[in-house]
Amino acid sequence: MNEQNIYIVRCGEVALKGTNKPYFERMLVERVKKSLKDIENTEVKRYEGLIYVRTDKTTPQMDIIRRVSKVFGVASLSPAMECASDIDAIGEAAVEYMNNIIKEKGIETFKIKAKRADKNFPITSPEVARIVGAIVLKGCKVLKVDVHNPDCMLFVDVRHDKTYIFQDKIKGFGGLPLGTNGKGLVLFSGGIDSPVAAFMMAKRGMRIEAVHYHSYPYTSQRAQEKVEELARILSAYCGYIKLHIVNLLPIQEQIVEKCPEEESTILVRRFMMRIAEKIAEDNQCMMLITGENLGQVASQTAEGLVVTDETVSMPVMRPLIGMDKIDIMDMAREIETYETSILPYEDCCTVFLPKHPVTKPKSSRMADSESKLNVEELVNNAVKSVEVVHIGC
Ligand code: ATP
Ligand code: MG
Repeated sequence: MNEQNIYIVRCGEVALKGTNKPYFERMLVERVKKSLKDIENTEVKRYEGLIYVRTDKTTPQMDIIRRVSKVFGVASLSPAMECASDIDAIGEAAVEYMNNIIKEKGIETFKIKAKRADKNFPITSPEVARIVGAIVLKGCKVLKVDVHNPDCMLFVDVRHDKTYIFQDKIKGFGGLPLGTNGKGLVLFSGGIDSPVAAFMMAKRGMRIEAVHYHSYPYTSQRAQEKVEELARILSAYCGYIKLHIVNLLPIQEQIVEKCPEEESTILVRRFMMRIAEKIAEDNQCMMLITGENLGQVASQTAEGLVVTDETVSMPVMRPLIGMDKIDIMDMAREIETYETSILPYEDCCTVFLPKHPVTKPKSSRMADSESKLNVEELVNNAVKSVEVVHIGC
């Protein structure tokens, strides 16, 4: 019946926005359009609080679902069938829809849930369900009604001029459209946590840039490729990511030579923050983001976080701070970064790992140790040596 495939896209939190709602809806439409930009003959339109995507019949549904469900701000979407808002047309479309499902899935029972968004439509919702149910029973002889545990729940959404028939509500990630909440720089390690942290901030509308530190030749080229691959996976949600790559080895060597061994981890982290802040300032990022989590490792104690933070004046966001590792891992699986994150390449933090790192570092001790280093010069040289890799578009 339909010449095109149609998808109904539902907005999540965007729908709750008061006077700013049109702005958020416009941004969401733009993001959905962008996610589909290389697919020919697609149309994305907003109408009465929903977004409608139309594509050629030949475009695989899975392709559209995969892309649109990754757009932040999308609560759910449904491949749908469209017909005129006329009870006979609705019945006919429902029969065609169900016959297709019978062919695909061999279902035996169904239930209809109707909703009349257009209150001018002359038939009430329960009546629509009853009439369409009777037409489906007649048109699809193998089917029976089961109101408690149907194989297929068929939704009939009667709107002003068109009615939409659909079965699945495929969940999106919700959140807010990208680009509605400034830009942040994530310290991006290649581990499990920092990609999840970046995802969580981007989900609230924040654009993301990333900085990765390596200790080449102690860390390998493959470790960097892994980080680039992680950024590529994230860019399906976050769009273009500017990835800044910094060799930390000159700084690490100075720290190893001149400072107490047990302080090296935390001293390195202080340098990471300083360099990140400078890169952030140069690239209009307003905050730093890390994957730190209270108590997870020696440098992530409360004291460790305090002495790390005091090196910068920019706000440091730690969206995973109170999460359990198991939950972070689940989320990494859900966003498809986990398998790449666990590839066993070395990280610069593990290159000169002290045997007994301090877990309760003191600011005064850190300042003492850093007085043996030319902090400003080391930071400036690191910033000068940044290489940039462009990920996604
Ligand atoms: P992750 O899983 O994100 O690597 P982690 O549990 O291994 O975190 P740490 O190694 O202590 O913990 O790192 C804490 C945070 O510091 C990371 O989440 C990340 O934001 C930042 N970080 C660590 N190593 C690097 C690196 N090589 N480059 C950039 N940022 C880093
Ligand atoms: Mg790590």
